[in-house]
Amino acid sequence: MTEGKKRKFKAETEKVLNILTHSLYADREIFLRELLSNASDALDKLRFLQSRGETVRDAGEPLEIRISVDKIAGVLQIKDSGVGMTAAELADNLGTIAKSGSEDFVRDLESAAAEKTGGTQTPADPPRATEDAGATENTDADPDTPQAPSDGAQIIGRFGIGFYSVFMVAESVEVVSVPAQGGEGPHLWNSDGRGGYSIRALEGEDAAPYKRGTVIRAKIKAEDKEFLEKYRLESVIRKHSNFLPFPIFLEDSPVNTTPALWREPKFSVSKDQYADFYKQLTFDTIDPLDVIHFSADAPIQFNALVFIPAVEQDPFTGLRERRGLDLYARRVLIKRSDSGLVPDYLAFLRGVVDAEDLPLNISRESLQENALLRAVSGTITRRVLDYLEKTAASDKEKYEKFWALHGKYLRFACNDYANRERAAALLRFASSASAGALTGLDEYLGRMKEGQKEIWHLAAPSPQAAEVNPYMERFRRKGIEVLYLFDAVDEFALGGLGEYKGHPFKSVELADGKTLEAVPDVGEATPPAEALNEDEKSGLDKLIGLMRSVLGAGVRDIRLSDRPTGSPAVLAAPEGMTSSMDKLMRAMQKSEETTPRVLELNPDHPLIRSLLRIYLKNPDDPLIPEAVLNLFDNVRLRDGALNDPEIAADRGLKFLEKAVSLYSDPHGRCYGASPYSDPRG
Ligand code: ADP
Ligand code: MG
Repeated sequence: MTEGKKRKFKAETEKVLNILTHSLYADREIFLRELLSNASDALDKLRFLQSRGETVRDAGEPLEIRISVDKIAGVLQIKDSGVGMTAAELADNLGTIAKSGSEDFVRDLESAAAEKTGGTQTPADPPRATEDAGATENTDADPDTPQAPSDGAQIIGRFGIGFYSVFMVAESVEVVSVPAQGGEGPHLWNSDGRGGYSIRALEGEDAAPYKRGTVIRAKIKAEDKEFLEKYRLESVIRKHSNFLPFPIFLEDSPVNTTPALWREPKFSVSKDQYADFYKQLTFDTIDPLDVIHFSADAPIQFNALVFIPAVEQDPFTGLRERRGLDLYARRVLIKRSDSGLVPDYLAFLRGVVDAEDLPLNISRESLQENALLRAVSGTITRRVLDYLEKTAASDKEKYEKFWALHGKYLRFACNDYANRERAAALLRFASSASAGALTGLDEYLGRMKEGQKEIWHLAAPSPQAAEVNPYMERFRRKGIEVLYLFDAVDEFALGGLGEYKGHPFKSVELADGKTLEAVPDVGEATPPAEALNEDEKSGLDKLIGLMRSVLGAGVRDIRLSDRPTGSPAVLAAPEGMTSSMDKLMRAMQKSEETTPRVLELNPDHPLIRSLLRIYLKNPDDPLIPEAVLNLFDNVRLRDGALNDPEIAADRGLKFLEKAVSLYSDPHGRCYGASPYSDPRG
């Protein structure tokens, strides 16, 4: 046996190794992911050579990965039949820290250290005498802020460290590799991950057991013995490496049996396969509503399998951490439920995205910064919108099912400036014109009246409530369609959108008389009320004065409405806000208080006219204040602003009692009969 040549790691490699082995790295288990992805890459390369018809060594060897454990020796072995490495490649590839990020890595590490010590590292820094200097050089500068472990770990998380991660759990590592081409025999690389490494050729007996590919033997540290347990290894493989394209055997039993469905051609995947995959992925028991399966080439190549669940999730209380798509880089899991991959308004989606050219060890922070991933997210968003548009156009029933389940998410699309108009077109509403069916904004625009600019809406708790809303009367008269919003959040969402195709959204509560004048009346116009004479006009002014004193601080003011509605009085919308928005704001501020609002009277309404007649006869008639209080109760009740219902109910009952008694009083004028019973009405 020839002695291996001792070699030093390259300088930066050594630093990284020290930090790796000395800092507590939270996700030690990922070392297995790294080794398995390397094995899978090597197998990929081999398959590529074969596909080009090149001759490779041991051509009959199956393409697979085998993991075995020697508990007595404390060794974990991972073997692949991939391309292998020559002696030179062993030195090159395993002697430098993952090329992907080594330089940046060290630069960051040093500048982090420099920042903390308040300057760049100069020769004046304490000399690093020991081998472990790399790990301690950062801590000794400032005892209050120990940095090497935390900064080190953070930076490690940010760059690919690949093969070296094995030293988080191994005290020494042997790699034997036989290259697929070039005729070189097996070489043994070994290292304790500290001083350096050696490489020597294996000959004779020693070389005999090795075929094409690479075997890695890691002597597991005493404190990491868990990685010699089959169940532990199996769970790590399933978690991170379940979809690698080559079979992985653990002690001769296959582990990764589920195919990476997203890589299969669409036509070859059955509905059941999609459903099974979805259930495995989400632990859902119900088949998904649909699946969008696609691949894209720009800006990076990726495959995606995006499911639309058939179960409803609450956007506010739903399991936030489970929202988003699982991100893979070449079938290796990078991050589960990555919510950054889809915008909030598509957060109901579940599924998998598998990108070709992402660094494996991309971390949480860098995911957010990663422009590539943002672009991936943009592509996914567009594809999902494409799908929804197509479904809305071709399969109304399915789309409405979708809408019922996930429509409440889509309302938040106003934040996505690039796609807000497309998303807005996908919104659905109940409306005054669609007789219970849902309508989209384009349909609404198609039904707009000559002279109408706004898209009108009304927040109401139910269709019935919307129909009897006092503001609706004018819109009915003009034949203008009004969208009904049954959830107060909708008003904010439409407010966020501002407009659709140039037509502003506006609440019917905020409509002034002038805006609607442009639209002519349709159908039977209500006959105009008789004009008031001068006496009546000044009487009305005084009546309003009386009402002010009756309602006191309950109202900010009382005035005649310039936008008469079907009811005797309404509460004017508080400063540009609709009453439902006001309610929502109060709920959010947990405030019971209602700010006093302006009461608008409709001088043409029969009730107001009756009160006026009574007032003109006797301004002190006690019926007036009682009627005014009851009217105010009624207005507040409709508005949802009645915060003393017991008092109001009591007042109403007494009033009712008196009203009914009017017709049952034997001395009264209409004993035993009310105006309702009068056949002349
Ligand atoms: P990366 O995978 O990002 O290149 P690694 O540190 O994981 O970084 O691996 C460094 C290099 O070592 C790989 O690019 C590859 O060339 C080589 N390598 C590692 N493991 C194997 C293996 N099992 N078979 C063949 N080559 C390997
Ligand atoms: Mg790697």
